[in-house]
Amino acid sequence: MNEFIRQAACSLGLDACRITVPEISTSDVRRFHDWLSSGYAGEMSYMNRNVFLRTHPETLAEGIKSVVCVAMRYASLPLKNSSRYVLSRYAYGKDYHEVLKEKLYQLLSLIKERDPEVSGRVCVDSVPVPEHALAGNAGLGWIGKNSLLIVPGMGSYVFLGELFLTLELNPDKPVTPRCGSCTRCMEACPVGAIVAPYTLDARKCLAYRTIEYRGDFAPEDSLHNRVFGCDLCQEVCPWNQKNHIPVHEEFQPSEELAAMSDEDWESLTETRFKECFAASAVMRAGYKGLVRNIKKIGEDSGSSRE
Ligand code: SF4
Ligand code: SF4
Repeated sequence: MNEFIRQAACSLGLDACRITVPEISTSDVRRFHDWLSSGYAGEMSYMNRNVFLRTHPETLAEGIKSVVCVAMRYASLPLKNSSRYVLSRYAYGKDYHEVLKEKLYQLLSLIKERDPEVSGRVCVDSVPVPEHALAGNAGLGWIGKNSLLIVPGMGSYVFLGELFLTLELNPDKPVTPRCGSCTRCMEACPVGAIVAPYTLDARKCLAYRTIEYRGDFAPEDSLHNRVFGCDLCQEVCPWNQKNHIPVHEEFQPSEELAAMSDEDWESLTETRFKECFAASAVMRAGYKGLVRNIKKIGEDSGSSRE
């Protein structure tokens, strides 16, 4: 069945697929509790909810025995335009939640065709489970010092998803972490958000500041031109330098997005926002959030949207 699942995942356009048991190690549980109690989650109060499930994924549903962890690549290169407003690469195309969920439901159907007794739960950020730890256990990749999963041969520009199954499968083995003595991501972070290897203070991180954070910025803050999300700690990672393989169509930027100029960003109306980003992960920041970021970038550079 393992091989059938792997081949089915590949036929659906998923780029990597590995299997593990629905458990994480006590050291991973401790690390999560330490991270929460340090306050690094900031205003993401939802991280404090369902803590038991976040550390005991086997309790997601009755009879869960295995987890299929999958990855799908997204754009590894920046947009070729001269705008100073930088959008994170994962937000170029369609919202990955929808794309991955659909593929995982298709995968579940294929598994059920072979074994109708199996039931499963699809998860793409929608359920509070420790997806990085599970993906690491499954050997989908290793967790880098920037806290992102690095998939061998693909790097870290990947979306993750999980399929929890009531089916006993042979778990795959983890891969050896390959960060070694490298600290490039820590050095590249302009706001010092990687406070120690493998420890992210989300309150400082520009991905959090531009998306999850709902408040105003202080004058001394800088968004370093990041209008939604941030890729700086991935751009420098040596494991991302040779993986510029063609991007799935779903995650390609539209021509309009690719051509957006500074003026287009600065004059973005709510109607235009909805036209441009209706099916995109950018909706998470909302129009107000995006405009707040655009204004802040303008202030940082001395030219401001009124
Ligand atoms: S995403 Fe940006 S701000 Fe966050 S840790 Fe990486 S480099 Fe720093
Ligand atoms: S930049 Fe270096 S330390 Fe950071 S994730 Fe990549 S390999 Fe690991």
